Amino acid sequence: MPLYGGIEAGGTKMVCAVGTGGDDLREIRFPTASAVESIPQAIQFFREAQQQAGVKLDAIGIASFGPIDPDPTSPTWGYVTTTPKPGWANVDFAGQIKQALDVPVAFDTDVNAAAYGEGRWGAAQGLHTFVYLTIGTGIGGGAVSNGKLLHGLMHPEMGHSRVPHDWQKDPYAGSCGYHGDCWEGLAGGPAIQDRWKQSGRTLPEGHPAWDLEAHYLAHGLANIILIACPQRIIMGGGVMEHLFLFPMIRKNVQTILNGYVRVPHLAEEIDAFIVPPALGNRSGVLGAIAMAEQVAQ
Ligand code: ZN
Repeated sequence: MPLYGGIEAGGTKMVCAVGTGGDDLREIRFPTASAVESIPQAIQFFREAQQQAGVKLDAIGIASFGPIDPDPTSPTWGYVTTTPKPGWANVDFAGQIKQALDVPVAFDTDVNAAAYGEGRWGAAQGLHTFVYLTIGTGIGGGAVSNGKLLHGLMHPEMGHSRVPHDWQKDPYAGSCGYHGDCWEGLAGGPAIQDRWKQSGRTLPEGHPAWDLEAHYLAHGLANIILIACPQRIIMGGGVMEHLFLFPMIRKNVQTILNGYVRVPHLAEEIDAFIVPPALGNRSGVLGAIAMAEQVAQ
């Protein structure tokens, strides 16, 4: 039996897991501290897991908050790059894991990994081109295109794309530190909180906040549909726990595209096209395991 390791490094918590995926996974969680504390903690967990299993890990996948360098030909592959997160800027995350445990390491963004996990075990099984979005404290998007995780110049940064902003209808300036009213700046969790002076968690269904939210989310989705041509879009994250948003978003997407893209996915099959994650909040860590499976030798 192979043994894979996975790390999902989020802004606030780290999840480390060993197993083969699906239900066969043993995990620990701890708060994300600085890299000098958190990386050795992860290494320790994997050392103990290897001892208990009596075998060496075949590979480890890392799903990291960003920005990161996922380019295997780059001298800074495996680094967390310009993050404002204290103690993590320019840290050789993957390199330290690889060196300490002497195993092949796969490294990607948390959202790319989540997309990969949903493709392997979740809502995108059997598809070759799909997008995973998280709508929460930020908006992040990952994509699998023709069976491969999408990167090139960098990894996707879908949350910072632009959507139309009607200043008269919505005078809120946006919450993004770089762009103000980019997609994340208008529709991320902090924007909801800032605009309505109330957390999205407590805003009731039927509140005008949700009409606006569905409108902005649908505009971002329309851009993604037209550029990436996904066969399915999976939407997770805290904001999307309000499941009543799904039908609102689907309807808005149809209105925005106005019948231009003539596929059943955007018509009678739209309920199966824009969907919640099948793996819940485990997409990221399972994606890390699926990435490890790919790089194991
Ligand atoms: Zn932005």
